[in-house]
Amino acid sequence: IERINHRIESGDKFFSLEFFPPRTKNGAVNLLARFDRMHRGAPLFCDITWHPASNQCNESETSSITIASAALNYCGLDTMLHMTCCNSTKEEIDVYLRKARDLGIKNILALRGDPPINEDWVPPSKEFSYASDLVRYIRETFGNYFVIGVAGYPTGHPDAMSYDDDLRHLKEKVDAGADFIITQMFFNAQTFISFVCDCRRIGIDVPIIPGILPIQSFDSLRHIVKLSKLKVPEEIITAIKPIRGNDEAIRRFGVNYAVQLCQEILSSGMAPGLHIYTLNREVATTEILKTLGLWGQSPQKPLPWPTAANHRRCA
Ligand code: FAD
Repeated sequence: IERINHRIESGDKFFSLEFFPPRTKNGAVNLLARFDRMHRGAPLFCDITWHPASNQCNESETSSITIASAALNYCGLDTMLHMTCCNSTKEEIDVYLRKARDLGIKNILALRGDPPINEDWVPPSKEFSYASDLVRYIRETFGNYFVIGVAGYPTGHPDAMSYDDDLRHLKEKVDAGADFIITQMFFNAQTFISFVCDCRRIGIDVPIIPGILPIQSFDSLRHIVKLSKLKVPEEIITAIKPIRGNDEAIRRFGVNYAVQLCQEILSSGMAPGLHIYTLNREVATTEILKTLGLWGQSPQKPLPWPTAANHRRCA
């Protein structure tokens, strides 16, 4: 099987889908059924987030590793497992990575994660302060077995000293061995385009996949932007406030907004594909991808979007 980093770089437009591990066994059963249906859309890969609070070492059916393995081994989806490092010891990281490898998982999104909001917190390991430490460790220990993705922040990470400082740290992750970048969500195409140009200017040359959030409800949007410390543009707030009690109307708005955003990004030629934050739901995501002509496309079929060959140039 071809590695996902080669397919990301192939010039064929693709999409990937992000899911979080469910909290209950029932939720896990539902998610597996959803994976099966999403398989028909032909995503390049599905990724499973690393639950900050869960104990990844136990055999729980709902752990990130188990869900990622089920997506891969039972549903036949190429899978990327997220892994955070700042709350784990080196021994724990070793166990997770070996377990992932033994289950056939070949792709890791290497992250720092967030320390608990607790004054007495002591980092369990000095070795893993930043995502770049995890990337380096994976490369040193596992060579090229894993394809490694890392996170990028088009408006800068909220903890960063400055946008430029954050970009330099992003470059450190790439220099440590990351194969590609997936971005934090953003709300304007220009935010992504400028970010890609800034990355290219400082020598970050790996593919940068835009992370797209379909807005699906007022409360979930509020929750997500609070967690990620993002600013929602006034035009979105103005549009959804009057319909805040009507989930169907908000979903419709979210689909239209995402389609327009993705069209602008794809026609800029700056994005190799799209990464969708599904929030474990499928209706909005499928509608967006169908409208864009990406759903169910085999990579051989020509798509209406520019390929890497006619990339727009940065100013
Ligand atoms: P890093 O790249 O390590 O950066 C963290 C901060 O430290 C930044 O401000 C950076 O500028 C700074 N920094 C980096 N290196 C240095 C250095 N050497 N010296 C000084 N400062 C430095 N969280 C989860 O818990 N589970 C998930 O599954 C998950 N998935 C995510 C997926 C994506 C695509 C994104 C964008 C985020 C995800 N997150 C997830 C959230 C992420 O864990 C947080 O944003 C976290 O605060 C930063 O992680 P990072 O890997 O980007 O950190």
